[in-house]
Amino acid sequence: MQSISKVGIFTSGGDAPGMNACIRAAVRTALHAGKSVIGIYHGYQGMIDADFQEMNSRSVSNIIQLGGTILKTARCDAFRTPEGRKQAYDNLKMAGIDGLIAIGGDGTFTGAEVLSREHNIPTVCIPGTIDNDLYGSDFTLGYDTATNTVIEAIDKIRDTAASHDRLFFVEVMGRDSGCIALNAGIAGGAEAILLPEKSTAIANLCNQLESAAKSKKSSTIVIVAEGEENGGAYNVAKEVKSRFDFYDTKVTILGHLQRGGSPSSFDRVLASRLGFAAIRHLLAGETRVMVGLRGNEIKTTPLEEVLNKKVFKLSEDMLEMMDVLSI
Ligand code: ATP
Repeated sequence: MQSISKVGIFTSGGDAPGMNACIRAAVRTALHAGKSVIGIYHGYQGMIDADFQEMNSRSVSNIIQLGGTILKTARCDAFRTPEGRKQAYDNLKMAGIDGLIAIGGDGTFTGAEVLSREHNIPTVCIPGTIDNDLYGSDFTLGYDTATNTVIEAIDKIRDTAASHDRLFFVEVMGRDSGCIALNAGIAGGAEAILLPEKSTAIANLCNQLESAAKSKKSSTIVIVAEGEENGGAYNVAKEVKSRFDFYDTKVTILGHLQRGGSPSSFDRVLASRLGFAAIRHLLAGETRVMVGLRGNEIKTTPLEEVLNKKVFKLSEDMLEMMDVLSI
């Protein structure tokens, strides 16, 4: 087992609320264990450019409540090549970094897995993405905050929708995962939710909207997950309008506002637990694993499993409930 003296920490891929709380926890846990910590800025790009800075306990003061990531993040194509990763590893070695903590999504983990294997550098990953699309953790950092942001938006849209008897299509993020759409849709009382995991024909949606109109609903909100099969909220709205031209339809794409904002208490606590656990597992000699929340416990899962196992996080009862509660 390699003994680690200097831990490098970085965030990569899309930013997510809670990443800062996680950095804080990891930095302080490593310092508490007598290790040095180096912040690697701009993800893998920063590894290739040796964009490093030593961190102390004060480097992470007053950040637990901040969205985004103080270490910045980036997408880096050069890291996909063996030459890019060799350059990154040489920089890590030169700086004395002998263990890594990576916070990000599946792309970040793929990069971490290959770097760790090629150059034998111990690495522990932390799930940080609003999409909640990773195997091995019930929740990812930022998902809870993003869902709450969407709910707040739905509530506001509901006010204007009800005042004008309008039909709104609200598109939400999540890539191929419908977690944000389903949970925010249920919590916001949506009349219909279109998900990547469940096929919904436009004809069926129209039937649902017709019954909503017949039951004299004063507003109708349809949540459209970005990865669903009908091509996004604008397309769905156009299709519905072509069949029911009497509807006053509006489309709202929530976009990047879902990524920002102060993390919820759930995300702050989860981030702290994951950052703390990641350092503990790294120092105990584990490598190429992800720390995640399962039940109410923090567990590790081999990266190979995280990257290869299919994840389905929508419970059947919620899928059934979504139609029942919208009548
Ligand atoms: P999010 O889920 O928020 O998009 P992510 O971590 O999946 O986050 P990606 O852009 O897919 O984000 O990946 C982040 C970075 O990881 C990439 O820019 C690239 O540098 C690195 N990476 C991704 N895939 C690979 C790969 N196959 N080999 C090496 N590095 C990779």
